Amino acid sequence: MSISEKWHGLDLTEDQLEMLNLVRDFCAKEVRPKGAQYHLSQETPTAILKKSAQCDFYSSDFFLQLFSDPTGLTAALAIEEMFYSDAGIALALFGTGLPASAIVANGTPKQIEKWLPRCFGTAKDPKVAAFCCSEAEAGSDVSNIRTRAVYDEKSDTWTINGIKHWITNGGISDVYVVVASVDPELKSRGQASFIVTDGTPGLSAGRHLDKHGFRASHTGEVILDNVVVPGDHLLGGKDRLDKRLSRARRNESSGEQAAMATFEATRWMVAAMGVGIARAAFEYARDYAVVREQFGKPIAAHQQVAELLADMATEIHLARLGVINAAQTYLSTGKLDRAQGSMVKYFASELAVKATRNAMQILGGAGYVNEHPVAQWHADALLLPIFEGTSQIQKNVIASVVTGLRIR
Ligand SMILES: Cc1cc2nc3c(=O)[nH]c(=O)nc-3n(C[C@H](O)[C@H](O)[C@H](O)COP(=O)(O)OP(=O)(O)OC[C@H]3O[C@@H](n4cnc5c(N)ncnc54)[C@H](O)[C@@H]3O)c2cc1C
Repeated sequence: MSISEKWHGLDLTEDQLEMLNLVRDFCAKEVRPKGAQYHLSQETPTAILKKSAQCDFYSSDFFLQLFSDPTGLTAALAIEEMFYSDAGIALALFGTGLPASAIVANGTPKQIEKWLPRCFGTAKDPKVAAFCCSEAEAGSDVSNIRTRAVYDEKSDTWTINGIKHWITNGGISDVYVVVASVDPELKSRGQASFIVTDGTPGLSAGRHLDKHGFRASHTGEVILDNVVVPGDHLLGGKDRLDKRLSRARRNESSGEQAAMATFEATRWMVAAMGVGIARAAFEYARDYAVVREQFGKPIAAHQQVAELLADMATEIHLARLGVINAAQTYLSTGKLDRAQGSMVKYFASELAVKATRNAMQILGGAGYVNEHPVAQWHADALLLPIFEGTSQIQKNVIASVVTGLRIR
């Protein structure tokens, strides 16, 4: 594998380049030009999903290929590129990556082999999947999850009851990864993840939520009313759960929590999304600022505008390096220690908000009207410091690590 080309100043191998060019070409042609249309209509971009599946750009094999590069470069740069093109459509395509990551992080090899392909469907009939953790009373406070899973030893089945809120792809998925409490006294240490498939009696879609940004991505409620699933739908299996629960009951650290394992796997991915949105805003504002003239010179030549652009370029570059570093650590070791995932998620999410806000400012009045995309991108960016753990929660995690105190 010879080193053949640079992306953002980074050397890439031929394999990495091939994957990334596929992503870049597809997104430039099929995603960026359609962003505004889907943002306005708030429709799920099913036609783009189907096309991406036909182009081998949406499948479990593609997902595994992205995440099998231990340098982290392929996954980090591919996610950046998708969200650079249009965040709403990108999440409609990449939303399945979150439950898929939950299956990989929590499932047995047999479960991964069985459920991962089903999350994505086939090239002819692509499907999406959802990760269902949040509830009306359990957003930041995941330990407060009320959805309950009860085991029946005789039939080796679990019965699940609860209502999940704000779920990406909730109500339109083929596979749902549902986080439920199996022992409410143990709070987050008494939770487990289950596979529930579309069509299971008792599983239904609640409200489809009308959103400020990321409007091409479907967000809805998921209702589980006496949903019965076979024992082998418990991710990780019953033996592993029993061992984890007994450690928790003895008050020993188990090191494994169903939702936390997923968040550890996905926080750096949200950071990569932030880098993509920030870069889109930066490039758009830069290209505008070198052409638009006021007071007889390009606005980019006015020092205050130039400074905004210089700050954006610097922070995007450093955020990208942080994401790649986190991706490399996670994909080569399966872990992110020292709050590394929280740090990059927090930094890149806030950067996306700041960069899109400053891009609007650089465009002036043009930035505020929908003929230009930067106001939409700002609306999109505002989600990043909220989902997959708010910025405040990330700071609690980081502060706990750096002080050794329990900060909540
Ligand atoms: C578009 C969208 C898609 C989503 N997709 C999914 C999904 O696919 N699956 C899923 O499970 N969830 C999903 N979510 C839910 C998301 O993860 C939660 O909204 C998020 O975790 C925050 O929870 P909350 O909204 O209940 O806010 P709250 O927890 O009520 O927080 C409100 C405010 O209080 C602050 N706060 C709360 N506790 C503390 C504390 N201890 N210290 C300091 N500040 C605190 C928060 O930072 C925030 O500013 C999605 C949400 C949205 C909006």
